[in-house]
Amino acid sequence: MPITRLTKPDSKFRLDDVSTDPPRGATKQGAAERLKELGEELLELQELMWGARTHSILIVLQGRDAAGKDGAIKNVVGALNPRGVTVSSFGVPTKEEREHDFLWRIHRQAPRAGEFAIFNRSHYEDVLVVRVHDLAPKSLWGERYGHINDFEELLAEHGTIVLKFFLHISKKEQEERLLEREENPSTAWKLNVNDWKEREHWDEYTEAYDEVFRRCSSKHAPWCIVPADAKWYRNLVVAETVAETMRDYRDGWLKTLERNGKAGREELDEYRRSRGGRNKG
Ligand code: AMP
Ligand code: MG
Repeated sequence: MPITRLTKPDSKFRLDDVSTDPPRGATKQGAAERLKELGEELLELQELMWGARTHSILIVLQGRDAAGKDGAIKNVVGALNPRGVTVSSFGVPTKEEREHDFLWRIHRQAPRAGEFAIFNRSHYEDVLVVRVHDLAPKSLWGERYGHINDFEELLAEHGTIVLKFFLHISKKEQEERLLEREENPSTAWKLNVNDWKEREHWDEYTEAYDEVFRRCSSKHAPWCIVPADAKWYRNLVVAETVAETMRDYRDGWLKTLERNGKAGREELDEYRRSRGGRNKG
């Protein structure tokens, strides 16, 4: 699967060069089958990571309104054991949050060893919405790219596997989804006039995102640009990327589990010896 994954800064990257459509040859039927396999694999990998407690995973989801952040989260989380998964949504900062630095509220939700944390929006809003709407002076948000890179490096050094996804939809697809919400009584609760207002700033957001991808892509915290006009393909890319990334850690986690299992067995043997043979009953 040809996935756009940015693993280092790239001053020439342009979001508009990336398609929002599934690649030719990808089918909904094929995706459904693959997704089922991936679900099983993800659950198995999650159990290994949980037991080994040497790593954690942070999944950051960004995208424009109606890009499908909620749907993508539902799909990934649905495959996992909910024990050991937290989902955090970051909206307009509260008064308390505004009285701290921008990473304060984010860092508190970072995953513990063995666990998954999924972010619905993130620290990136502080160089996106804040930049587009002049919510802070440039002298302040301009420094944040560096702070973000340092922060993500810190998490990685601590064993957090950071994966960032941008759900990439076209302007036309967004319009269709927003209109659909109006027509469908079961989704009308999602209506938000703000989504239409934000849409007027489409190009400014594109610019802001371009700068994010250019400056905040690294090996330990890559950005994955997900063609998201088709929901089934979006879900497939996210699941495939998470599984592919975790797979590299599989052998290490297994070794840790074996070592811990051996240590546990030795402790048990020692205990039994001290009681003069196997303790019965
Ligand atoms: P939603 O994701 O639709 O629930 O909307 C959350 C809103 O909070 C979006 O419009 C975001 O742009 C906004 N938001 C998130 N983080 C920040 C931030 N740091 N500063 C200002 N607005 C934010
Ligand atoms: Mg919204």
